[in-house]
Amino acid sequence: MKWVKCPPKFIANRYGSFKQKKMTTRINVKATEKTILNVIGTKIRQVLLDNTSKYIGFRYTNEVKFPECRPVDENYEILLPISSKGDEIKSVYELAHECIHLITPVEKNNVNYFEEGLATKFQLDFIKKYKHIRVQNGEIYYDVAMKKLRTEDEKYSIAYDDIEKIERLSTKTIYEICKELFQKDLIITFAQITPEMLEQVTGIKDNDELLIRVCEKFYT
Ligand SMILES: [Zn+2]
Repeated sequence: MKWVKCPPKFIANRYGSFKQKKMTTRINVKATEKTILNVIGTKIRQVLLDNTSKYIGFRYTNEVKFPECRPVDENYEILLPISSKGDEIKSVYELAHECIHLITPVEKNNVNYFEEGLATKFQLDFIKKYKHIRVQNGEIYYDVAMKKLRTEDEKYSIAYDDIEKIERLSTKTIYEICKELFQKDLIITFAQITPEMLEQVTGIKDNDELLIRVCEKFYT
């Protein structure tokens, strides 16, 4: 009667073990989008754009290969590649990044390393809460994303490292630094950040190279 006490073991011994169907935890992307915006609002600044523009949501489309934030008439929307559809955790990861660009949308050519590094840091920070969900060969999505950043996205990797460096050298978190830049009316958009402003707000001295580099344009 041993099998009565321990049926799974009995079955495994008798028939061989079989892989358990992958545990899937559904993430409601639409609901998470609201959380992302709330977190950004609390940490940095409300994503309000201005009086005439507003964020009208995200959609999946084959118009883009990579996620992007795009103006539509007076408003903004986020486009996610069709390949992300059905992959909730990847969608959330991409949305978190684009929502940072949504704080102060500017022409792509004006985006600096600071903003890209911040968007990369935020999406990685945000995805940490899904450490219980395992994807691809049992890996945690955070690890998958970090590996991709380190092996495929060199410029983003540099931008991310510089943001981490700023946090290490300053007594403030990068989110507190951003909040202060807006609250002191030093900037209206991230694209306007200068090394001098960063020196003032972060308190980082004798690190001109770093502060100059993060203010450089990312795409040109
Ligand atoms: Zn970006």
